[in-house]
Amino acid sequence: MTETIWLVNVKLETGNRTLESGAIETVTGLHTLKVEDGTITEIYASDEQVEMTGRTIDLNGQLAVPPLKEMHNHLDKTYMTLDWKAVTPVANLKERLAHEAAELKELAGSTEKRAKKMIETLLGHGVTHIRTHVNIDPYIGLQNLEGVKAALQAYEGIISHEIVAFPQHGLLRDEVPALMREAMRNGATMVGGLDPAGIDQSIERSLYEVMDIATEFNADVDIHLHDGGQVGLYTTDKWIDVVEASNYRGRTALSHSFCLGDAAPLQQMKIAERLAEQDVAIMSTVPINLNRTLPPIELLDAAGVRVHFGCDGFYDSWSPYGTGDVLEKVTRFGELSRKIEETALRRLLKFATNGVTPLDEEGNRVWPAVGDQADFVLFDAASTAEVVARKPKQRSVMVQGKMVSATES
Ligand SMILES: [Zn+2]
Repeated sequence: MTETIWLVNVKLETGNRTLESGAIETVTGLHTLKVEDGTITEIYASDEQVEMTGRTIDLNGQLAVPPLKEMHNHLDKTYMTLDWKAVTPVANLKERLAHEAAELKELAGSTEKRAKKMIETLLGHGVTHIRTHVNIDPYIGLQNLEGVKAALQAYEGIISHEIVAFPQHGLLRDEVPALMREAMRNGATMVGGLDPAGIDQSIERSLYEVMDIATEFNADVDIHLHDGGQVGLYTTDKWIDVVEASNYRGRTALSHSFCLGDAAPLQQMKIAERLAEQDVAIMSTVPINLNRTLPPIELLDAAGVRVHFGCDGFYDSWSPYGTGDVLEKVTRFGELSRKIEETALRRLLKFATNGVTPLDEEGNRVWPAVGDQADFVLFDAASTAEVVARKPKQRSVMVQGKMVSATES
């Protein structure tokens, strides 16, 4: 039997209005949405006469915004639910990794609990999709994968996910390639990689190994790339070659990619074109770091490269900071790139929604549409531009026409 739910007084963005001052304002209107088995089947303006049978949910004029997608996280790493701990001082990356390795066994027992707390935090901020990397390493093997899987299972039907098998301590060592394959057979859905030069110290071998595993399991790829400057650019270029040769267009991403920020503008344009050609997405966590340049997000976007934001691991052995609010990353990027007008603000939302925005570039409503799942984040706001600029704290999440609330676990 079809379950019908009527959502009434849903505020949707419908277009633009140019004021006498020349400023553009977003026009919104109240709507009635018919939802059948979680899918929107009819959309009406509120002043239209509609006969409603079935359950009705009054959204009281809240603004419906596409749900947020957290595209780079490490659910297994967080210290959430444990006692406060700042980061242990180390001299270099090697020592940082050694410290993490020593801690892994101690933390593995609480992975499910910690991951759940992180999921609750993300959900509370409006996230309904999580791409998480999970350590696959010689110290605890697949233990973190098991904990993360169990945590995500508890949110089935509410939060969709991708689990990236992530060789945090290097891919080309010990039994890691075998462990990665084991992870792919046991619930990991994507293949990860990490600094083919800086960590694996063999760029081609590392990239080929990642692609070998990916093709073996017909899985998509997301590689952490912190290698900077020419080395990082060479790695990026090489990866695009591998993607092309393996017929993997549209199935891979590079995370962080600071090297793109290090390049000269002409070089940036060239590599952006190649990334767009093979549809290699760039994941950024828009970190604040005075010593590192962000990848040229706007240039990439303009070249047609998909760019997605994520929170990364936070409050863990790498950093005591972070809130788990991917909207905060959008706001930060807007502030850094000085987006201050209505249309410039609202188009930034796409970096946290897999490209979905209520209005298109011309100001026409393109979301939500009949056939879409009735998934929303609801804000008490005038427009998505306000949401981006002000990142309101108060949010509620609806999935398939039903309110879901983040509860403490
Ligand atoms: Zn990461």
